[in-house]
This record gives sequence, structure tokens and C-alpha cells, in this order.
Amino acid sequence: MSVNNPHHGNQKSGPRVLVVGGGLAGIAAAAAADSCGYCVTLLEARRELGGRASSFEDPETDQLLDNCQHVLLGCCTNLRDLYTRLNVADRIEYHRRVHFLDSRGRRFDLWGVSGLPAPLHLGPAMLGFSALTLPERKQVITAMLAMLRMGKAGREKLDGQTFGQWLTEHRQSDRVIQRFYDPVLISALNEETRRASCKYAIQVFQDAMLLNQHGYVVGLPGCALEELYSHRPCADVRLGTRVSEIMFAAGQATGVTLQTGETLNADAIILATNYHAVQRWIPEPLRATDGRFAHLDKLESVPILGAHLWFDKPVMRLSHAALFDGPLQWLFRKDAEGKILHGVISAAREWAEKPRDKCAELFQKQIQQLFPDSSARLLRQKIVIEKRATFSPLPGSDAWRPAQAPPPGGIENLFLAGDYTKTNWPATMEGAVRSGYLAADAVTRKIACPVGREQDKTFLVPDLPTQWPARLLEK
Ligand SMILES: Cc1cc2nc3c(=O)[nH]c(=O)nc-3n(C[C@H](O)[C@H](O)[C@H](O)COP(=O)(O)OP(=O)(O)OC[C@H]3O[C@@H](n4cnc5c(N)ncnc54)[C@H](O)[C@@H]3O)c2cc1C
Repeated sequence: MSVNNPHHGNQKSGPRVLVVGGGLAGIAAAAAADSCGYCVTLLEARRELGGRASSFEDPETDQLLDNCQHVLLGCCTNLRDLYTRLNVADRIEYHRRVHFLDSRGRRFDLWGVSGLPAPLHLGPAMLGFSALTLPERKQVITAMLAMLRMGKAGREKLDGQTFGQWLTEHRQSDRVIQRFYDPVLISALNEETRRASCKYAIQVFQDAMLLNQHGYVVGLPGCALEELYSHRPCADVRLGTRVSEIMFAAGQATGVTLQTGETLNADAIILATNYHAVQRWIPEPLRATDGRFAHLDKLESVPILGAHLWFDKPVMRLSHAALFDGPLQWLFRKDAEGKILHGVISAAREWAEKPRDKCAELFQKQIQQLFPDSSARLLRQKIVIEKRATFSPLPGSDAWRPAQAPPPGGIENLFLAGDYTKTNWPATMEGAVRSGYLAADAVTRKIACPVGREQDKTFLVPDLPTQWPARLLEK
């Protein structure tokens, strides 16, 4: 077994920070820590960065396919900041019109009037949203006003209840739930609308639609996800490097052992893997004194299904569409002509074990109904089901999410990052980046930053500001 200075690829000589896991949380943590002058090494088990938001090579075409379409919104301020750091902000294409289709392919749009502050910007589109009857539109507007009046502080108090309870209390009908709340929330939260925590459901509407006119804008990468990570977040990135163990001495983390048997020393470690991996690495006596690991097994994983569909003729001209009726909940066009589509089902519990051929048959039927004028034939499909896509934002789940920094008496140089940690966001790319920035903040508070950064500064980028009409409506 050899002991290595992990930083042979790094010219810096500052305190050594190991980041384990090169998903968005690890990338964000590494980029932020690197900017402070620490000697950072990023270790990623796979051959590419990006974790769950990444791509794979399709063996039949040698093309890069995303494991699943990933969508961001204008309110994802930290993710957009990371893309700027990585020099890829211009690879994201933004859409100011959000398209919805009913089962027969009739189209309804939501769009914001540019120049009008929130929530007025969506007013004309909401009033004219003919997928809902006039009384149904009134129902939704009444609910939106209630969300505005409670402000951000109000939603925090609703963590313990389901959004289903809130919808019932606010007299939202089943049809309104199916045609308005479901298309937005199931994909945003990866959970059934009625089961999800009321706090996170309301956050989606407040941050994306009600508080700032730019919050709702839909961002779609104009390239394979993997290409977003070609600019490395720090000098020493080691791909195909699996950590098998964390080394501890006198209650502190001292380094890691790789699967090869090699060991790397560290002054601080940021664990940016998913929570399943984290659970295995912390020995029992240390778990007892560090409450961050006590409740991880209470988080519930929920699957997402992504379907790559190749047709012989153009099918869909729209860049994207949210679908009122399933089984696919969203469709995305993946080529200029509209012959390659990608469909997504979130909260896909009942799809995890379905035979792929059966799934493809159902998807083809749905697409024929959506686009009756297209006589396109499905040539090929590739269905990817991520069984542990994200944790479920159930009511009360915040209590199980660990902080990035250790509690008093915890493992003081071991930091956590990952979408499951306490970010006040659901499990999303934005949540993952926030966790990485928060973990880097925590490192700077523990180990003086070589570039002399003030300790109370944060890498977190603020939310979009609440605009004046929204502020006026807040109680
Ligand atoms: C199918 C699907 C669709 C999604 N759609 C969206 C979307 O549209 N919008 C959105 O915002 N979010 C979406 N998400 C959620 C988003 O992808 C995640 O929240 C985010 O990518 C999580 O990042 P992370 O860094 O926390 O974790 P991960 O991406 O899981 O990163 C952890 C990394 O650690 C590595 N690792 C694990 N063990 C080891 C080890 N022993 N040694 C070294 N490395 C190790 C893993 O290989 C991985 O790269 C989706 C997720 C899935 C699965």
C-alpha cells in the first residue's frame, strides 16, 4: 500500500482538500474550494463527471445520450453560476414559452410578458390558459394569491403537511390538479403532487412563477450533459478513481483509500457521493457522535424513467411539451427535424420493473394520439430507469437531511455535499450545486483560506429578488 501526496497534478501547496464524487455537488464544491487556493483533488469513480446529470455512449450509434433529459429554470441561480464558472453558460438554451399538450395534441402555452414584474408577467397567459375553464383559472389564481400572501416564511411552516392537504383546503379540483399542478410539480419534485411536502410544492410556484419574472424560464442544455463538464473545476481531477474507504484517526478524517489500495492524505474531505455510499463509510462509534448520519436511512429513493425514441419521420416541432395525460409526462425534441424525441416519467415507481418493450409500445401509442397527423414509425427505443433518481421530498423529510458542516463534537474535518443534504431545495441540480457551495463555505470556516477570503463570505448566489408587486401582495 502506498501513501501519496494527492496533489501531484496541482501546483498549489495550500491545505489539502479531497472531494469524493464528481456529480454537480462535487464539481461545485471543488470549483469553489479551488478558487480559495486550497490544494483540491476531485475523485470520481466513473470515467466522466456529472453523476446523475450526465451522459453515456450509445453503443449502436457511438453518440452521447443523456441518462435523462435535465431541465433547469431561471430561478436556479447557483446552477447558472456554476455553468458560468465552467464557461458553459452559453450552452443552455432558454425558452420563454412553456408548452402544454392535451391527449389529442392540442397546445396551450404559458408565457411571461417581458418587462412586466412578477407576478403580473404571467397574468395574461394565466387568464387566457384555455386548458382550464374560466372557473378553474379563477381557482388557480386564488391559490397563487394565497401562496404569494404567505411569502417565503409562510412556506417554511408547511413542511409537515402534504400539498394534497393544502390543495383540498384551497378547493383545487382534481381536473385542475391534473392539468396545472401535476405537469409542473411531479417533474420538479419527482413525487406525486398530493404526497409531496407542501413547503417544497409552494416553493416551486413561488420561486419559479410568482416572485420574479425570470424565475419560470425553462433552460435546456443545447449539448449532451457530459459536454458541460469539459472545463475541469480544479487542476487535479481523477476519473475512474473509486474510493473504497475513509481513513480516520483520533476522531478526524485523515484521508481515503482507493479501490486500488492507494491512500491519499487530506486536511479536509468533502463527501459528495449519494447518501447510500456515505452510510457505508462512517464507523459506528463516529456515527454516534455525529448526528448527520443518524437518519439517512429514512430518506426514500424514487425512480425516474427516460425514454430515447427514434422515429422514421419528423414527429414534434416544439422543443418541449408538458403532457396532461400519461404515461409520458414530458416530451423533448432532440434533433432539428423532430425525429428523435425524449420522454420522461417522474415518480416512476410503477415503471421500474416493467418490460422495456411494453413501455415502448405504450409510449408509441401515446405519441400517435398526440400527433395524429404524423405517420411516423418508432424505429428504435432506449429506456433508462434510474431507480434511485432522487430522494422523495415527503413532509418532514428536511429533518432527515444532514447539514454540510459537522455538528459540535462531530467529525470536524469531514464535510458533506449532495442534493440530499440540507439545502432548502428539493433534489435537483440547483440543490446539488448549493450543497457543494455550502460545503466549501464550511471548509473555509474550519481551515483558513490561503487566498485570505473573509470567513463569513458565502459562495451561495442569492435567489432572484422578489419584485415589487409580489412584495406588495405579501402579508
Ligand atoms: C433520471 C433523472 C432525471 C433528473 N432530472 C432532473 C432535472 O430535469 N432537473 C434537475 O434539476 N434535476 C434533475 N435530476 C436530479 C439531479 O440529476 C440530481 O439532483 C443531481 O445531479 C445530484 O447531484 P449530486 O452531485 O448530489 O449526486 P450525483 O450526481 O449522484 O453524484 C455523486 C457522484 O459520486 C460518485 N461516486 C459514488 N461513489 C463513489 C466512490 N466510492 N468513489 C468516487 N466517486 C463515487 C458517483 O459516480 C457520482 O458521480 C434528475 C435525476 C435523475 C436521476
